[in-house]
Amino acid sequence: MKIIMLGAPGAGKGTQAKQIASAYQIPHISTGDIFRANIKNKTPLGQKAKEYMDAGNLVPDELTCDLLMDRIGQDDCRDGFILDGFPRTIPQAQALDQALTARKESMDFAVNVDVPDENIIRRMSGRRVCPNCGATYHLTALPPTKAGTCDACGSELVQRADDSEATVANRLRVYHEQTQPLIDYYERLGILKTVDGTQPMDVVFAQIKAVLGKELEVSNVESRCD
Ligand code: ADP
Ligand code: ADP
Ligand code: ZN
Repeated sequence: MKIIMLGAPGAGKGTQAKQIASAYQIPHISTGDIFRANIKNKTPLGQKAKEYMDAGNLVPDELTCDLLMDRIGQDDCRDGFILDGFPRTIPQAQALDQALTARKESMDFAVNVDVPDENIIRRMSGRRVCPNCGATYHLTALPPTKAGTCDACGSELVQRADDSEATVANRLRVYHEQTQPLIDYYERLGILKTVDGTQPMDVVFAQIKAVLGKELEVSNVESRCD
């Protein structure tokens, strides 16, 4: 199964992708996570990506595509994968199509997690992440058991630098200009599935399960409506 998660920044792509990946036993590939890991480890790729990410702009296509194609060429991706945050531009989508065509493969689904801009602002201001293990929380919708502390590894939670209000505004603008056109792109390919991302997390997951048309194990994420 090869799945793309589409949606605005903060729509809940990562939250859903992690659950789908665990239910289908396929790797969860987040280009944002890969860039952040490179920044943390001070690699040349991280140094190149950082200035774009800090400003809320997209990392150039060439850099991003090289990274992604390399990742999906690895052994664990043979039986499928879920892409979270890639593609974000039409040229990225075309590069992905070409790479898969060369393997005589194609994507199965593009799941669009639909959330209006007003909700996005609220989602982003409440997002807290674990810098150690990558777990994501929300101050009201998915709080950790102990405030400010990761349930999974006990590290102190932080707010992502690019989740500040000014950067979020730019990221939303970039999303509408460069990423939203992908909705039509995948609609035309006949693989687009749109779900209502304003519902609580477990309801969104159930909707995705329904559109993927296969019984997935429901994990026990509890959430409240936002
Ligand atoms: P979000 O979870 O809010 O959607 P991500 O973690 O996916 O954010 O991405 C964070 C940042 O990493 C983006 O704002 C962008 O600068 C960079 N990035 C991630 N994926 C891509 C991509 N496919 N193309 C270009 N830039 C990307
Ligand atoms: P993305 O990967 O699209 O940027 P995330 O999965 O990181 O989005 O979610 C953004 C924030 O919103 C996180 O704090 C997450 O806990 C929260 N969140 C995700 N899905 C929902 C939902 N259905 N309802 C309320 N909050 C949500
Ligand atoms: Zn953690």
